[in-house]
Amino acid sequence: MKENQNDADAVQRYRISVFLVDDQPMIAEAVRRALASEDLDFHYCRDPTEAVRVATELAPTVILQDLVMPEIDGLTMLKFYRASPSLAQVPIIVMSTKEEPEIKSQAFELGANDYLVKLPDKVELIARIRYHSQSYINMKERDEAFKALEKSKHELARANEILKKLSSLDGLTGIPNRRRFDEVLGQEWQRAVRHSTSISLVMLDIDFFKLFNDTYGHQGGDDCLKRVAELISGAAQRETDMIARYGGEEFAAILPETGTNGAYQVAEAMRLSVARAQIPHSSSKVADHVTVSVGVATWVPEQGSTPDRLVSAADKALYKAKAGGRNQVCSLGLQVE
Ligand code: GH3
Ligand code: MG
Ligand code: MG
Repeated sequence: MKENQNDADAVQRYRISVFLVDDQPMIAEAVRRALASEDLDFHYCRDPTEAVRVATELAPTVILQDLVMPEIDGLTMLKFYRASPSLAQVPIIVMSTKEEPEIKSQAFELGANDYLVKLPDKVELIARIRYHSQSYINMKERDEAFKALEKSKHELARANEILKKLSSLDGLTGIPNRRRFDEVLGQEWQRAVRHSTSISLVMLDIDFFKLFNDTYGHQGGDDCLKRVAELISGAAQRETDMIARYGGEEFAAILPETGTNGAYQVAEAMRLSVARAQIPHSSSKVADHVTVSVGVATWVPEQGSTPDRLVSAADKALYKAKAGGRNQVCSLGLQVE
């Protein structure tokens, strides 16, 4: 039945498969002969007590069910098929010698899809088998196509999520990149405007990094950048704090709802964690290890303002820290608690 299980073509292709349940082998033989020229599978079960189990295994596209059998009568069989989750939707054609309207209506009430008086004419039998099988196959394929669509929609959403995450991370250090930094700064700035709260920005730059590269090579420089990113990321505690690679050997931290003193403390913690890591830097002019200079600015933004002023204040503070001898924190901007 299953011809293609390829992921790209998740929808199965079905073949018509007929399952006949009748206690008389003669009837089975007659049906087999009638269907012999057709491109379909034919299965026969003589024992009604085995019929549900065998049908479950075979997964036919139509069941031909005899009505009068010695062990279990065909109407009871209908109940069994309909109660079985895997057979509940399979079309059932009742085949009987009985023509009474009450029996027919009982059969339909119990879930039969069609009723044929034995032995039906070959053309009619084939037409009904094809009709019921095809509508069952259509339903199965529609269900599977729908499921495959849902699955690929889900996978696409996940891929987009991963892509979005990747596009906001810096490839070298794995921390948020400049694009993400600008995005978050804009959002946090607006939030600070709405709630009239302070927002601080920390700008951090590695001292004499050009000399570091010259001494330890570009690969050594890259490793140093990764290590510094880790160290300063560990220094900011709050969930809302965000540390990004601003560009080159420069990093930035957004500290929402943080006043001057708090921001200074975070900046100092960053500077110390880098210094204490004692990453050798033999050509540095301020120490024998890697150090950073840090600028801090704090603002309570007013309606209609943009974060540019905070960025330029933090930049100025960083410049002052460099000019003041490096390996230090300098704070600028509004004094806010
Ligand atoms: P200062 O103390 O004044 O900051 O001096 P500096 O040498 O650190 O500053 P400068 O801006 O002159 O040099 C920065 C160096 O950082 C130059 C550049 O090659 C290096 N750099 C920038 N991005 C990367 C990177 O991704 N990997 C490596 N290995 N080096 C980088
Ligand atoms: Mg530098
Ligand atoms: Mg620089």
